[in-house]
Amino acid sequence: ATDKPLVIRGLAKTYTDGFQALKGIDFEVGRGQVVGLLGPNGAGKTTCLRILLGLIRPTAGDVLIFGTPLTPSSDVLNRLGALVEGPGFLPHLTGRKNLELYWRATGRPKAEARMDEVLEIAALGSALERKVKTYSHGMKQRLAVAQAMLGLPELLVLDEPTDGLDPPQIAEMRRVLKGYAANGRAVLVSSHLLAEVEQACTHVVVLDRGRRVAAGSVGEIVGTSNGQRLEDVFL
Ligand code: ATP
Repeated sequence: ATDKPLVIRGLAKTYTDGFQALKGIDFEVGRGQVVGLLGPNGAGKTTCLRILLGLIRPTAGDVLIFGTPLTPSSDVLNRLGALVEGPGFLPHLTGRKNLELYWRATGRPKAEARMDEVLEIAALGSALERKVKTYSHGMKQRLAVAQAMLGLPELLVLDEPTDGLDPPQIAEMRRVLKGYAANGRAVLVSSHLLAEVEQACTHVVVLDRGRRVAAGSVGEIVGTSNGQRLEDVFL
């Protein structure tokens, strides 16, 4: 359908030094899906996310967000929420205060922030009233994800949200992301660890050196990919 949250076709990026970070990749993100963009360092994951967030321009290919082509002037980016870099929270303020300040800084009306709904999905509980300096790494990651969710964007894009988390924290993140994607929303997350994607996602797109080497549901991809173990794809 044309209102698919994300359709990427033939996406290529050659940096100014001539390096081909993406060599023509295709994939889609459907409503209700948590899609993991998986690949080793240098695979092109961050390049791909930066293009679809409008931060850099592709050399070739199309990005359709809810059926609308992504162009420098299009406002489809308003339908996205993103976590791209490590979040800079103010350590001496509470989690809640940090979220409120961030939302004010985006210049959008206070009423648009769906704070209660987001906080329930992100399951931060009473920690929200504590200063961020008391947070574990996992809690900070969840606060960062909650921040990206604040306007309840229909497509949420997260760069390595499970980076550095331990297994219980990853399980919690999985619950949060799947809860978010329910209700017809969609999530795209990057990761370089198969185990994280396996736990946290419904679908996987595997990149290696700028090419898509596998794609499908987690059930289809994990275990075999063209008869190969997925781990072997990286060797
Ligand atoms: P990582 O997990 O390390 O971020 P990644 O899959 O996200 O890996 P990218 O960050 O997209 O990979 O980088 C892909 C390749 O493009 C890397 O080899 C990187 O060195 C190169 N690259 C990234 N940015 C630039 C740039 N501005 N100019 C030239 N090459 C770049």
